Amino acid sequence: MQEIMYQIVRSDRKSVALVIDNDANLIVRAPLLMPDSTIEEFVSKKKRWISEKQKQVAVFGEKHPPVAVKTGESIMYLGSSYAIIKDNVEDVEVSGNELIVPDQFVTDALISWFKEQALIIIKERVTLYAGIMGVKPEAIKLSEAKARWGSCSAKNNLNFAWRIIMCPLSVIDYIVVHELSHITYKNHGAAFWARVKTILPSYEDAQEWLKDNRKLMDII
Ligand SMILES: [Zn+2]
Repeated sequence: MQEIMYQIVRSDRKSVALVIDNDANLIVRAPLLMPDSTIEEFVSKKKRWISEKQKQVAVFGEKHPPVAVKTGESIMYLGSSYAIIKDNVEDVEVSGNELIVPDQFVTDALISWFKEQALIIIKERVTLYAGIMGVKPEAIKLSEAKARWGSCSAKNNLNFAWRIIMCPLSVIDYIVVHELSHITYKNHGAAFWARVKTILPSYEDAQEWLKDNRKLMDII
């Protein structure tokens, strides 16, 4: 039988939680006084779940099932993977690489939280880059789009998919600068791309990231 490797993190909690980190390592969160043998027994009962989760991490970006809002699942936020931990908290707390969510939290509540964060951060970045670029967008709204990350209307109303909150900030910045450039250029001509490049010289890295992580952003 193959032995399961894991690290134990003890804290003032009541039950055991298994977390698979970004590198597919198993971390066992356990109560302070729980004996090692009890932990080992728990882990061995969860062997199948652990190996499935570890395989998913190994193919990160290839195929990912919808995220369930429960301890042990993980979710992308601002380009990093966060382990979901259900706990007795009032609202979502970001702590290290963990997203601590209230016990009764369900997927809809997590999506609402993502949308709130998306609006705050996108508005900040739009204000920053609109200032740098000397353009003035009209309304800023969120969309439900799964592949169209942003758009700019004829009247310069900007729409952004709330899902882009899962991207690293550098990628969010690219999407913001892309749409702000459409205020001046309503097409994707050479002048448009020259404008984007002036503001973000390595914008192609962001395009690459979006191509590689598209599927991962479709998990909630
Ligand atoms: Zn465009």
